[in-house]
Amino acid sequence: VSASDLIEPHRICVCVRKRPLNKQGKEIDVVTIPGKGALLVHEPKHKVDLTKYLDNQVFHFDYSFDETATNELVYKFTAKPLVQSIFEGGMATCFAYGQTGSGKTHTMGGDFTGRQQNSAKGIYALAAQDVFTYLNHRRYAHLELSAYVSFFEIYNGKVYDLLNKKAKLRVLEDDRQQVQVVGLEEIYVSTAEDVIKMIEMGSACRTSGQTSANANSSRSHAILQIVLRCNDRASTLHGKFSLVDLAGNERGTDVSSNDRSTLVETAEINRSLLALKECIRSLGMNSDHIPFRMSTLTKVLRDSFIGEKSRTCMIAMVSPGMASCEYTMNTLRYADSVYDA
Ligand code: ADP
Ligand code: MG
Repeated sequence: VSASDLIEPHRICVCVRKRPLNKQGKEIDVVTIPGKGALLVHEPKHKVDLTKYLDNQVFHFDYSFDETATNELVYKFTAKPLVQSIFEGGMATCFAYGQTGSGKTHTMGGDFTGRQQNSAKGIYALAAQDVFTYLNHRRYAHLELSAYVSFFEIYNGKVYDLLNKKAKLRVLEDDRQQVQVVGLEEIYVSTAEDVIKMIEMGSACRTSGQTSANANSSRSHAILQIVLRCNDRASTLHGKFSLVDLAGNERGTDVSSNDRSTLVETAEINRSLLALKECIRSLGMNSDHIPFRMSTLTKVLRDSFIGEKSRTCMIAMVSPGMASCEYTMNTLRYADSVYDA
């Protein structure tokens, strides 16, 4: 906890992270990070008369991370500055956005094969460590807070509890517009290791049982919440950090797939990502009207879009290969419209 942690220039921070090329790949790298915040996409193209040229597109964000950036570095500039806001009674939210295979789960969940080395930790675990550092710090001791964890996924607009065998849960809104996920497990945690255990358990649950509930985890949003509650009789909510591994944003442009359930799935993902963009934009424009009812994702995150102390960060992930260029451009355009707000 230091003075530099206090600097929060933007309420909404938008960053981009480029993952390394696949090791065995013969792919052409079309993404360059020339400096802080900038990103360049250069795609080799042919004119009608077959002359070759490079199609260059430049984007600017708060930060841009190249393929050499570690999870710890990305964390330091994205989610870390948000941890403090939940101790000050705010709602913090960090999103990983991008096409399937671009590094969302790598960034958020880290690498869960074997015991977690520090280098393998993702933003979930790194944020958990900092939450406990703050919790044990004298500056916040007088608040008498306890930490709890929830972990759930949203698939086709339905909520499934990853800490309770994928129990299907209902989302209710009361007459004061408070949104509640009925019956969601909220587990008390006393150390960062406790949180990591929950993440491991939930992540295993997420990818298990490839049944009708969820054939493919890349088609669902996963939300880890670290909740701070006061040690009073009512366990009053103090602050909440939502860390969101979003569903892959690839459009259902594959016409060969006219499987109805896939189309419904894709439509639902597109709808929720559009709703998310609209909500973040409204937040950025200090609008009174936040269209959170547009999707289950934005409904359950309603608290994140209101309140003076709310902080949001979006990390847009891009794959560097030429074959992914169209998706990369979609991701960058989306991130750009959020950054604009
Ligand atoms: P997504 O969750 O967006 O579908 P993943 O996180 O599963 O993508 O990443 C796809 C693959 O690329 C995984 O094997 C992952 O380990 C690897 N990967 C992603 N980002 C990085 C990175 N920054 N450094 C090294 N490997 C990465
Ligand atoms: Mg993933």
